[in-house]
Amino acid sequence: MDVYKRLLILAKSQIPRFLLAAVCMAIVGGSTAAAAFLVKPALDDIFLNRKETSLYWIPAAVIIVYLVKGAANYGQHVLMNYIGNRIVADLRSVLYRNIQIQSLSFFTKNPTGTLISRVLNDVSVIYITVSNSVTSLFKDTFTLIALIGVVFYRDWKLALIAMTIFPLAIYPIVLIGRKVRKTSTKTQITMGSLTDLLQETIAGSRIVKAFGMESYEAMRFNKENERLFRLLIKNVMTKSLSTPLMEFLAGFGVAAIMFYGGFQVVRGSTTPGTFFSFLTALLMMYEPAKRLTNLNSEIQQGIAAATRIFSVIDTVPEIRNRPNAVTLKPITQSIELCDVSFAYEATRVLKHINLHIRAGEIVAFVGTSGGGKTTLVNLIPRFYDVTGGAVLIDGHDIRDVTLESLIAQIGIVTQQTFLFNDTVRNNIAYGDIDTSEERIIATAKAAHAHGFIMNLPKGYDTVIGELGVKLSGGERQRISIARALLKNAPILILDEATSSLDTESEMEVQAALENLMKGRTTLVIAHRLSTVRHADRIVVLMKGEIVEEGSHEDLISQQGEYFRLHQMQFREEDPETQSEPQPPPSAEAQA
Ligand code: ADP
Ligand code: MG
Repeated sequence: MDVYKRLLILAKSQIPRFLLAAVCMAIVGGSTAAAAFLVKPALDDIFLNRKETSLYWIPAAVIIVYLVKGAANYGQHVLMNYIGNRIVADLRSVLYRNIQIQSLSFFTKNPTGTLISRVLNDVSVIYITVSNSVTSLFKDTFTLIALIGVVFYRDWKLALIAMTIFPLAIYPIVLIGRKVRKTSTKTQITMGSLTDLLQETIAGSRIVKAFGMESYEAMRFNKENERLFRLLIKNVMTKSLSTPLMEFLAGFGVAAIMFYGGFQVVRGSTTPGTFFSFLTALLMMYEPAKRLTNLNSEIQQGIAAATRIFSVIDTVPEIRNRPNAVTLKPITQSIELCDVSFAYEATRVLKHINLHIRAGEIVAFVGTSGGGKTTLVNLIPRFYDVTGGAVLIDGHDIRDVTLESLIAQIGIVTQQTFLFNDTVRNNIAYGDIDTSEERIIATAKAAHAHGFIMNLPKGYDTVIGELGVKLSGGERQRISIARALLKNAPILILDEATSSLDTESEMEVQAALENLMKGRTTLVIAHRLSTVRHADRIVVLMKGEIVEEGSHEDLISQQGEYFRLHQMQFREEDPETQSEPQPPPSAEAQA
């Protein structure tokens, strides 16, 4: 019920247009009935009574009726499709805006494919509902009413009989319609899995080849393909039944009515014109009646799509400004984590973390993967909110400040570099799109990116997508470092910003990062311990708890977890020691 109301509210601005369309539909209904009505004078006056005047005005009237009908049909069609498209465009825009403001947790809960389907497919279903179903609801109802008028006007007794037989003739067709819809749904699903399969094997063609699985994949594909074929044939068989059955039933009905009507004509109590006008109107009722009986399920599909769309629109972002949030000023003192705990759904990932980071300090986080490093730094820009304790910047709980002022202070470079399909220039200037050319170039130089950018086909105007995969991981990384550098935020978060690079590009990126860290409060997560050596402080995070904290030298001399991690990596990275047999790490740590 609520959904209907909300759809009406959405359509409110379209009411004048809809009223105009409804007038057109009424005219369509009226002229359809008029055509049936004209059968009587045509038959009785021209063919039976041979009136010459009728010979002129009736064909003229037929032309006018069809002209008017055509014009009205054109009008309502354009108007209804305008309304449908307008509602859809508005809905899509609201939907898109609401998806954009959601918190990160929303995107982990809703897969990309589902969201895209909401914005594109579900919204299209609404369009079809408006332009087809709502049109049919009004146009076919008007037409039916006008035709029923003609039928009763011509012969009310015969009309009463026909009205009782009519539903019986419609019913089998309705049943077939339902069956066809059911197989159509199955066809859609199979088509979907065929698409998935296709996408997967084309995208993964290298893996398919590497494992020699071409014939296996062909078999998988064929299985679905054949299933689709069988469904389509089944659909055709049911659908094809519809017309012959309809004709047979109609023939049956026509024969019965012809017998009764003919009897009246023979007895002279009615004219052939009256009878055929009646019959024409009755036959014309068939199509609109059939459409109206199928309407309910179509509208239900639209309502289901609307419900799904509204549920996304109604999702309130988990993380949003509190009513009296204040503006956070640039950091001058510290970032503090006070007894911070955090859990995704049920599993606790951070447990009672206490940490005090002075403004301007560089703090490195190390530890085994899955220890909670990324989770910890994600709490600072409020990608997630703490589930226990608090994060304070200069003494302000970050949940009490505006998100905009918080985000403005933080620059982030992550392991997964994401570049938009736009020019290199716009990718660098992403946070401040109107910035000057000089600043972009200066930033790119500081990020050690200027050199390779100048070697791109169109320099800063090169569009990323046009390059395909031609940018190396290190180059992409340096562009995203330039992006963070340009933002010039006082707090910097580097989450494994160099982990996927080879040593040479890592050195370039490392130099870029050192430029980036100058004078900023930095939280850095690095896979390679050599890169965190110069941090002011190193925090070792294991299973969501801080197990050690101190400078590189302190931690090495303590011979604890950091020392152990360090030993392990040292061995991995040094090929000479690697070739020699090694005692197990625990033995070495004790030594
Ligand atoms: P690290 O960065 O130290 O490797 P993370 O902070 O990424 O560790 O992950 C810590 C733990 O939280 C892991 O066990 C991981 O599986 C889990 N985790 C990470 N992200 C999510 C998420 N979005 N939903 C649920 N669990 C997550
Ligand atoms: Mg991580």
